[in-house]
Amino acid sequence: MNKIVVIGAGTMGNGIAHVFAQYTFPVYLVDLYAEQLEKALTTISKNLDRQVQKGILSTEEKINVINRIHPVQNIRESVQGADFIIEAATENENVKLRIFKELDEYASPAAILASNTSSISITRIAAVTKRPTQVIGMHFMNPVPLMKLVEVINGYATAGHVTEKVIELTKKLDKTPCVVKDYPGFIANRLLMPMINEAIISLQEGVASAEAIDTVMKLGMAHPMGPLQLADFIGLDVCLAIMKVLQEGFGNPKYAPATLLVNMVAAGNLGVKSGEGFYNYRSGGKN
Ligand code: NAD
Repeated sequence: MNKIVVIGAGTMGNGIAHVFAQYTFPVYLVDLYAEQLEKALTTISKNLDRQVQKGILSTEEKINVINRIHPVQNIRESVQGADFIIEAATENENVKLRIFKELDEYASPAAILASNTSSISITRIAAVTKRPTQVIGMHFMNPVPLMKLVEVINGYATAGHVTEKVIELTKKLDKTPCVVKDYPGFIANRLLMPMINEAIISLQEGVASAEAIDTVMKLGMAHPMGPLQLADFIGLDVCLAIMKVLQEGFGNPKYAPATLLVNMVAAGNLGVKSGEGFYNYRSGGKN
């Protein structure tokens, strides 16, 4: 791959750009907003500093990684000559469909178009392009530089040789690919979100406190983080959106989002990003 384009410079986009650049790929990082690009480069620099402190990278390697990342605001220009493009923009179907139409129009006909979506159907995204066999899901986990898993999602039309290329690319980033089909929530969120939702229902029913629920899963199941704290990190709006995708996609009432989750999102308590969720983060830490 001679050039990688990452669309969206938020939480995931900056991590994806970081990892591709760390493994020597030239990266074009695209966002609508100059401030987002600036913020992304600052975050990448801080995260690289941490890797330098841990002895994973030298200071010289850090500078090389930063120099491989080119921030741009224009999709059309960025995709010229790219053979792999990964979209990590806002989790909104209309936003993604618009981006994929534009990518299809301007990217080289041979380019692979991937999405990092957590829950939107790859098949539906592929259907707005004239190259559905070259559209695939490449779902990184947060935080991207640390997490080893990449869910590789085959849409209805994804060609086998495209899946093979993405598997190969994942391995080049020193990550482990798991190939899954395009069903609601894929595998990661189909298993994770109902667990988080059930933890919220348990809290809502007063079965136990938030701390007790999280401690049961940490000490009893060896989870590094309890489900309620994890929900705060993911964002309660994101958790709600994924539960709705599962509920609509399977048409099964067992995926109905907890009323407490719906109410917290309506009240603007979204977890870490808003300062309050199941825990309070306003003082900087978790309370
Ligand atoms: P985010 O809100 O932090 O960032 C999204 C970025 O996309 C913003 O900077 C926004 O300005 C930009 N954007 C929106 N429309 C654009 C456009 N048309 N062109 C270019 N840039 C555009 O979101 P995020 O948490 O990084 O999530 C991005 C994707 O990754 C989503 O599909 C999400 O489901 C998925 N994902 C998120 C997580 C997570 O833990 N946050 C984990 C795995 C996958």
